Amino acid sequence: MTATNLLGFDLEGLVAYCEGLGEKRFRAVQLFRWIHQRGVADFAQMSDLAKSLRDKLAQNAEVSALRVLSEQRSADGTIKWLFDVGNGDAVESVYIPEDDRATLCISSQAGCAVGCRFCSTGHQGFSRNLSTAEIVAQLWFVEHLLRGEGKARDQSGRVISNIVMMGMGEPLQNYAALVPALRTFLDDHGYGLSRRRVTVSTSGVVPMIDRLREDCPVALAVSLHAPDDALRDQLVPLNKKYPIAELLQSCQRYLEAAPRDFITFEYCMLDGVNDAPEQAEQLVKLLKGKVPCKLNLIPFNPFPASGLKRSPRERVLAFAEVLIRAGIVTTVRKTRGDDIDAACGQLAGEVQDRTRAEQRMTRAPVVVHRRPSS
Ligand code: SAH
Ligand code: SF4
Repeated sequence: MTATNLLGFDLEGLVAYCEGLGEKRFRAVQLFRWIHQRGVADFAQMSDLAKSLRDKLAQNAEVSALRVLSEQRSADGTIKWLFDVGNGDAVESVYIPEDDRATLCISSQAGCAVGCRFCSTGHQGFSRNLSTAEIVAQLWFVEHLLRGEGKARDQSGRVISNIVMMGMGEPLQNYAALVPALRTFLDDHGYGLSRRRVTVSTSGVVPMIDRLREDCPVALAVSLHAPDDALRDQLVPLNKKYPIAELLQSCQRYLEAAPRDFITFEYCMLDGVNDAPEQAEQLVKLLKGKVPCKLNLIPFNPFPASGLKRSPRERVLAFAEVLIRAGIVTTVRKTRGDDIDAACGQLAGEVQDRTRAEQRMTRAPVVVHRRPSS
């Protein structure tokens, strides 16, 4: 019999599991705290649990971390880990320290089926969904490793203060595993993070945005990347299924339950593709007065197979200027961990493509339909 990995349960799941072993709810709470708050994997060390329970757990369960294949530390403090998830697949997590916070960027899938043109994960194709245990294990490992190293902690004693589901994969295409992981991040007996500090980033899986609003509303970032459907269809193929108008309506609905009163739109700046001032004007028309939002412009991080280039800095600033003048809060994302390929879109891990993305993704140049400037 294979042991059950307890990292795969949110608190309610662990309560149900413990009840199956004939144990009361408060025992599950104690166990959950040992695992997540204290980082203990060995049941024998859980001194306030009855010996009989410790024995039962040792026979049936485990707290199993992912095997670390590599760890790279950047000059700017960013750290990237590559974790083995079996069968030749590996995923990455990135720790990004800043003055007032420390963010962990977590992966949700081995590869990604959405296949965005500018994303190296997308170019690799899709292997499989991560389990809840594999998603939670990334935080569990990093939090307790860095505590052990004496990294700065917040008032509540945590090293990691923010989570972004912006690693490999499309989290809303792995919804069933994602939600218990989010609940573990939020639970006061787990990591106790506020909903505002846990962000799900999505390429726009509209029905799942609606479900997340019902099941576990957290901060939402939406990868927009284009001001019109013709261009977005090419950059983010999922747009053909859920076009911009539908996506923005789901964002409006999301805000009714969201912990923040705005949606973050991510916009990856691609030279000569989506970075013209007229396209910024189009974005203003699309968003202003319709969806309370912030714009986060991401300098494209190139990788050889993409055939795309990063927009020059002046062009990014000019684009931002149009948005800011129209009253849209706009930031340009700082590139971190460049020297260890840990920046956005550079997370490639190791993926056994089961979808033949190589063949599916043409190298044809992205065709830009610009409105004639008047
Ligand atoms: N699948 C989700 C989350 C993972 S990607 C999503 O697409 O939102 C996290 C962010 O990195 C997204 O906004 C994505 O568009 C961006 N990104 C992907 N490739 C990139 C690249 N090469 N350079 C810069 N940003 C990139
Ligand atoms: Fe998948 Fe996000 Fe990359 Fe698109 S940008 S391929 S949705 S991981």
